[in-house]
Amino acid sequence: MRAMVLDAVGPVRDNPRPLRLAELPDPVPLRDELLVRVSACGVCHTELDEIEGRMQPSRLPIVLGHQIVGRVEARGDEARAFRVGDRVGVAWIYSVCGNCSFCRRGQENLCDDFRATGRDANGGYAELATVPEAFAYPIPEIFTDAEAAPLLCAGAIGYRSLRLTGLEDGQSLGLVGFGASAHLVLQLTRHRYPRSRTHVFSRTEGERAFARELGASWAGDIDDTSPEPLDAIIDTTPAWTPIVEALGNLAPGGRLVINAIRKEDVDKNALLRLDYPAHLWQEKEIKSVANVARRDVAEFLRLAAEVPIKPEVQEYPLEEANHALLELKQKIIRGAKVLRITRTI
Ligand SMILES: [Zn+2]
Ligand SMILES: [Zn+2]
Repeated sequence: MRAMVLDAVGPVRDNPRPLRLAELPDPVPLRDELLVRVSACGVCHTELDEIEGRMQPSRLPIVLGHQIVGRVEARGDEARAFRVGDRVGVAWIYSVCGNCSFCRRGQENLCDDFRATGRDANGGYAELATVPEAFAYPIPEIFTDAEAAPLLCAGAIGYRSLRLTGLEDGQSLGLVGFGASAHLVLQLTRHRYPRSRTHVFSRTEGERAFARELGASWAGDIDDTSPEPLDAIIDTTPAWTPIVEALGNLAPGGRLVINAIRKEDVDKNALLRLDYPAHLWQEKEIKSVANVARRDVAEFLRLAAEVPIKPEVQEYPLEEANHALLELKQKIIRGAKVLRITRTI
């Protein structure tokens, strides 16, 4: 099979083409696994964290990519949940232990043995991928393959972030950064919390205009003061300045949810501006969001089909993965980026 492979980690600045097009042996599904013929794979900022070493893949070389849509090509001997030809999705959660206290109480996203697609097992920047069948999801018919891909990470983790804010209808929400995840959260919020106003903060005018098109009440720059104190804020940026600014915009008793798997160190000095009375006092809370549980993915897919939430998608051929990642790094973004993998045999 053809795949885009990561051989070594390092800054994209030094190597703007970190992935190499390679011919790899076709993977073989284990007893409880599916072999999936990949049709589309979403491009996520987490791939940049892996490539640049902020979050090391557990082995190299590795195939990245954790927003996979494709059809079941073959099944292991004991895999019975899907049929050959079924359309399935694979998300960041590749497997968990199933026995620890986190797994038993529905927090499998915090399991010590959490294995991630495209980090601890080969992912979807390839023509074929394998996955334990218990970690595959049926894809609602309403979505094309490319539309479904970003729902699997950007959408699912956006949904988890929104749940963790504890937002109630009528309360005000801030979205800091407006990429693949936030543009889905905005659509979900308008449906679930029709009386809430959503305020979007972004460095680029293109993203601010896009946010207004999708129904944001207000859109401004990262360091602008919001028109009203915000009861909840979701941050999806890789930086620290937006955290300090967001805490300043948070209402008393409000909660900031940080939806980022890693932060970059470039502007870490911004944290020295933290002022206790202005940014933290009045019972303000900060909570991070880690990974996703299967429940987040399954529930979000159902909700997205019901609303419906349609992601805005930019498509790239598999061989152009480096180009898509570089644009993500340079913040040339409108909606979600998706690799289209076409069959060559
Ligand atoms: Zn992701
Ligand atoms: Zn566990």
